[in-house]
Amino acid sequence: MGMASSGGDSRGLALHTKMLLGFLLGAVAGGLAFAFGHTVDAEGVKQALPWLQVVLTWITQPVGTIFLNLLFMLVLPLVFSALVLGVVEIGDPKALGRIGGKTLIFIVTVTGIAVTIGLVAVNVFQPGAGIDPDVGRALIAESSSQAAVIVERGEAASAMQVLLSIVPRNPLQAGVEGNLIGVMFFALLFGIAAATTPTAGVRTFVGTVQGVYDITLKLINAVIKLAPYAVAALLFTLIASKGFSALVPLAKFVAVAVGALAVHMFVVFPLLLWFVGRMNPLEFFRKAEPVILTAFSTSSSSATLPTTLRVAEEVLGTPKRIGRFVCTLGATANMNGTALFEGVVVLFLAQFFGIELSLGQQVLVLLMCILGGIGAAGVPGGSLPVIASILVMFGIPPEGIALILGVDRFIDMCRTAVNVTGDLVGTVVVSRGEPADAPDIAARPA
Ligand code: ASP
Repeated sequence: MGMASSGGDSRGLALHTKMLLGFLLGAVAGGLAFAFGHTVDAEGVKQALPWLQVVLTWITQPVGTIFLNLLFMLVLPLVFSALVLGVVEIGDPKALGRIGGKTLIFIVTVTGIAVTIGLVAVNVFQPGAGIDPDVGRALIAESSSQAAVIVERGEAASAMQVLLSIVPRNPLQAGVEGNLIGVMFFALLFGIAAATTPTAGVRTFVGTVQGVYDITLKLINAVIKLAPYAVAALLFTLIASKGFSALVPLAKFVAVAVGALAVHMFVVFPLLLWFVGRMNPLEFFRKAEPVILTAFSTSSSSATLPTTLRVAEEVLGTPKRIGRFVCTLGATANMNGTALFEGVVVLFLAQFFGIELSLGQQVLVLLMCILGGIGAAGVPGGSLPVIASILVMFGIPPEGIALILGVDRFIDMCRTAVNVTGDLVGTVVVSRGEPADAPDIAARPA
């Protein structure tokens, strides 16, 4: 694939540097616009000044939305072709079993570590105990209608429902409804059957899927060139319209959640990379930067998947088949940050409502959060319905989720960055000890 290295751009700055600049520009300009671009109307409500409304409506919102749409547009062909090819390239059922097994162990163990960090942090710092009940009630009332919708979705998404949706009755419908786990299951079966059916027809099919994958990757490389501008636009829109004032009443909760996420990202991941993956963490983070910034500004693992796969494939230096397999599955199944956050919210709300959870119950919360990290959709706020259903299980009022909605978007940015970084770390760890890629699979004799 004729792609510049690590986002290198022959015409100037490397992509990751441009993205960082876009990120900083969006954040600083957004902060200034939030400070100076509003007026307070007669009822005391903050209103954007006309110039800011024009900038938001005509420039930054459409730029951000078009970029997100372009990324989401590529997700379905990418998930299907990457998984089919990943499985066919792994080929031998024994190797598939080994790589699949290692991936599963990675997901469960590392997600378990993440949730444990979150639970310990909430137990130590008790962020739910210090909230003034009046402030809490006001926050809950403010977001109650939004919370009601989430709770309804959470009740519909019972554990059994989530399990059943893994096997889709109609794979096209699963795609249309954004049920990526269903699409993945279909693609995995397709790949396994293709890998074990040595006919001329299957070889042609695999060649075609390779074509779909190559074309999608080519498109990704084009779309990613827009990322620095889109990242600036997305951040500007968010910060200029909402600022960070929502964080203040829940500062302790935000600090605990973000602090625990930071420990996972900057302590656990580097240790795994160093000791298990045998990769220098600094080099890893430099290479992963475009992925981290895209995740941070889109709050969506699915929207970040094109970038994740591109980095796994072209920058990380791990076998392509493993990157395709781990990152594609990981985009919905390996969500370390989300699982950690779920644990933090459940204990935080239990503290707020004065509900005592025993150690045994907390272990159950841990297990539910590991499953919740697998079941949550990779879209902004995808974990909220899952959290609502876990709250119900432990007798904590699920409407309490309204308490944290005001700060959710900011934490979502952070946890999504942890989620996708976890997919790349998983790729490095699972790749350890695996042989390099075989030559082009489409050219391989059946
Ligand atoms: N936004 C997260 C993701 O896409 C999911 C969540 O935690 O809400 O990875």
